[in-house]
Amino acid sequence: MTIDEAPRDVLRGGPRELLRWVATGAAVSRADLSRLSGLSPSTVSQRVEALINQGLLEETGAGRSRGGRRPRQLAVPTGGAVVGAIDLGAHHARVGTLDLSGRVVQGRTLPVRIEDGPEQVLGALLAEVAALAAPSSASTASGVASPSTGSTTADGAAGALRGLGIGIPGPVQHATGRIVSPSRMPGWNGFDVAAFCAGRVDVPVIVDNDANLMALGAHRTAHSELDHAVYIKAGTGIGSGVISSGRLHRGAQGAAGDISHCRVVADPAPPCTCGNAGCLEAVASGAALVTALRDQGIPVSDLTGVIRLIDDGDRHATALARQAGRAIGEILAVVVNFFNPQVVAIGGRLADCEPLLASMRATLYERCLPLATQTLLIERVATGQDIGITGAAHLVIDHVVAAHS
Ligand SMILES: [Zn+2]
Repeated sequence: MTIDEAPRDVLRGGPRELLRWVATGAAVSRADLSRLSGLSPSTVSQRVEALINQGLLEETGAGRSRGGRRPRQLAVPTGGAVVGAIDLGAHHARVGTLDLSGRVVQGRTLPVRIEDGPEQVLGALLAEVAALAAPSSASTASGVASPSTGSTTADGAAGALRGLGIGIPGPVQHATGRIVSPSRMPGWNGFDVAAFCAGRVDVPVIVDNDANLMALGAHRTAHSELDHAVYIKAGTGIGSGVISSGRLHRGAQGAAGDISHCRVVADPAPPCTCGNAGCLEAVASGAALVTALRDQGIPVSDLTGVIRLIDDGDRHATALARQAGRAIGEILAVVVNFFNPQVVAIGGRLADCEPLLASMRATLYERCLPLATQTLLIERVATGQDIGITGAAHLVIDHVVAAHS
């Protein structure tokens, strides 16, 4: 099952935003919501009633009166609805439950062997989501923050699961939720992730590309006031997500923003997992940097080793990082000239790699139209391992609210 992101009116003064204001404490009454949204009291009442009927809001008693009848207070039910989210990577997956404001209730990082195939990998991750959403989960783990697993637990109990969002590190056909020709996911081609998961959890399941979900999470948390944004995810692989007119832009099939296999100038052009040569992913991704260093006789086992070498000032690793930044900048320059975003933000593990970022930034200024870069923000996506599951949760929350609006 795949679902479109909520229409804009659902976000601006719509039920989704009314819910968020109550969940974050910005509003405790219908009058507050009317003031914040600029909507008439009757429209607010109508929307609040719909949210109450769906169990997404509740009335908690009478608030303070300013003369006249005391207003009934609103709250998001404690221990109420949560959404499950999975952000799958090549070697790790971030799994969590989030409340209806998009706040992480619980999060956990698990090691993953993507080559074990979809049934085994997804089966284990679904079991983890179920465990996090189980009523006893929050009380037993309350207050725990384990650096080894990146576990986080916020105050509040786990509640009924209302939906599940999953990010996949490969192309996802939006209409079907199927994975189509992923370059680094052996055994996953054509797999119907949504159907597999929907058969195991009795809630709506939304599947999307991981860069799209990072884009949505970053936009909602850091740039919601901006209408046009491009987010690059640079980790083991490389991809991007596009926000256009305030909404995630997927294009006709869901492939919009996938810059992984755009060709860049490279001599020699390294072979790519897609069968072509000289793709951005074969030059500038974390996996490409590992391969290039090994080819130079430098033993690195993974991206962590590469980042350590760059941090230590190793000249081979640093030169490769600069080359990667230039390659990303060249592709992004085309995107920026064509699309004219207000912000370009880079996330993923390579985003903290200063030589790569500096080189990308310099190339963008060199290759873009002055008008396109005049007010362009170029920055890192706000750090945080939860940005992907946050995007996944927002997609689900939009659906849960929109479906009942
Ligand atoms: Zn390729």
